Amino acid sequence: MARISRRAATLGAASLLVGAARTALAKEELPAPTAQAVRVVFHVPEDAANVKGALTEAATNASLVIAEKLLGVGFRRGEGASLPERFARLETRADRNELSSLLTAGSVDVFLVTSLRDVDDTRLHRRGVTWTHYRAPAAGGARGPYIVLADSASPSTLAHELGHFFGLSHVEARNNLMSYDREEGEEFLDERQLRTVKQVSTARLRSKWLVGVP
Ligand SMILES: [Zn+2]
Repeated sequence: MARISRRAATLGAASLLVGAARTALAKEELPAPTAQAVRVVFHVPEDAANVKGALTEAATNASLVIAEKLLGVGFRRGEGASLPERFARLETRADRNELSSLLTAGSVDVFLVTSLRDVDDTRLHRRGVTWTHYRAPAAGGARGPYIVLADSASPSTLAHELGHFFGLSHVEARNNLMSYDREEGEEFLDERQLRTVKQVSTARLRSKWLVGVP
């Protein structure tokens, strides 16, 4: 059974238990969710016809719930921003870089697009990417990271990209959220990955790089 589902079952059952039993369970529990939630700003396509599939409010809200459960971080949807039509289809690195001019302060920015071309293998399209616009220090330095989500994204693509946002790389373990090796079953992060996410998210909240919301 995937770790995350075991954890969910443990947390659900814990409220029914008292005394020693609860203490014993507590030792097995993974890091608690961050006390403050992280604000997520969705940049929604200006043209309502492009708000479909994974990009609808219902779909992005559902994806945030999945991300909270898998990453152990609280997320709050911030006030949305409008994404100009010229960003609906991202083809090149320059297109991705240009999004950095639209970043908001203190939030995770998620840009919702109709298509997202792979910039390494241009025959492919991606469902999501976590991107940083690297510039020379004299030009103001790096901007990001930020997330791009395509309308073909799966319900857990956002959680995967948030994993990158909070410092995780790809792994090869089957059904791990950060793996491409999937079969039927629940996705999960292992304890080491959850600790990394907690450390990085806590550090960014403490430094005010991300502004926590209650
Ligand atoms: Zn990835």
